[in-house]
Amino acid sequence: MIRERHLFGPGPSNPYPEATSALSQPLLGHLDPEFIRIMDETSDMLRTVWGTENSRTLPLSATGSAGMEAAFVNTVHPGDVVVVAVNGLFGQRMCDVAARCGAEVIAVEHDFGRTVDVDRVLSAHPNPAIIAAVHAETSTGVRSDIAALGAGKDDALLITDAVTSIGGIELHADAWGIDVGYAGTQKCLGVAPGLAPFTINQRAFDRRVAKPQSWYLDLNLLGGYVGEAAGKGGQRTYHHTAPVAMVVSLHAGLTRILDEGLDAVNARHAEAGHLLQDGLQEMGLDLFAEEGWRLPELTTVLVPDGVDAAAVRAELLNRFDIEIGAGVGPWATKVWRIGLMGHNARPDAALLVLAALKDVLGR
Ligand SMILES: *Cc1c(COP(=O)(O)O)cnc(C)c1O
Repeated sequence: MIRERHLFGPGPSNPYPEATSALSQPLLGHLDPEFIRIMDETSDMLRTVWGTENSRTLPLSATGSAGMEAAFVNTVHPGDVVVVAVNGLFGQRMCDVAARCGAEVIAVEHDFGRTVDVDRVLSAHPNPAIIAAVHAETSTGVRSDIAALGAGKDDALLITDAVTSIGGIELHADAWGIDVGYAGTQKCLGVAPGLAPFTINQRAFDRRVAKPQSWYLDLNLLGGYVGEAAGKGGQRTYHHTAPVAMVVSLHAGLTRILDEGLDAVNARHAEAGHLLQDGLQEMGLDLFAEEGWRLPELTTVLVPDGVDAAAVRAELLNRFDIEIGAGVGPWATKVWRIGLMGHNARPDAALLVLAALKDVLGR
């Protein structure tokens, strides 16, 4: 039995209690009318957190990375120009995925820790088929201006990674011009890892790849899985067995979020994050992410000179049961990443991390 830990890493976060207890309920059958109702309601609630009217909004049965795969595999035709804003690990991964789909990828590189330079991305190519960007870069703790990309995209489709923004900071898929979006359950949505909330609008669907090389993520086939043609509560065609427990858990997590109110949930993330970031600076530590674009839900802080980053993380884990994340790539030993997402986005959680870090660092 593993002790209960405080998971303040970049993900998974500690789930909302409602989402955890849903996982221990007796299983429904995947074609049980009660489960179909839960699936319909889950898609409805996902539309609310995405800020979209898209009928094609569903939880894909795999983690956030599968959402990324689904976005590209269904929209990239061989030879398409895909402009990707790269300001961290997940932007890099988008380039890899798009290239595997046969795209001509134009990577617009940024220093890690900087927000996406919208003008540079929009002028990278005169007529790209797709522009792709990460809303909240979990590898660096930076937010980017998706609305500005949407406003300037012209005829291109806009693919947005909202894995670490959904349910934590403002996100308005339709108003911002997001054509295809994917997310994950284990970050701010406060549910265990395992599903990828996905949304695609009619404009993108009309340009879809007729026969994507992925059978599992082919949106043409997934329509029947969520009863798209049959309508609410209607007949489903078997595609794969729905991960029933995960969908029921997501339903519980989303219900919790909407009961609390999306604005209130975002405000809670903002309050906790700012408390943590102010406290770290008061301790004399420097934040890594560009000022003005810092994510409240994922704080990146520079490891002070002469401090062993891994030893501090180990001591937090062993003495306080607190897990924080290491930096990514060249920043692995130079940055810590501290998540306050979902159920952890609370002032008491922020103060707990601060107190423990203060003790370990002797500040
Ligand atoms: C976590 C994350 C992913 C990948 O999600 P998995 O659930 O780990 O597959 C993609 N993009 C961003 C921004 C993430 O934070």
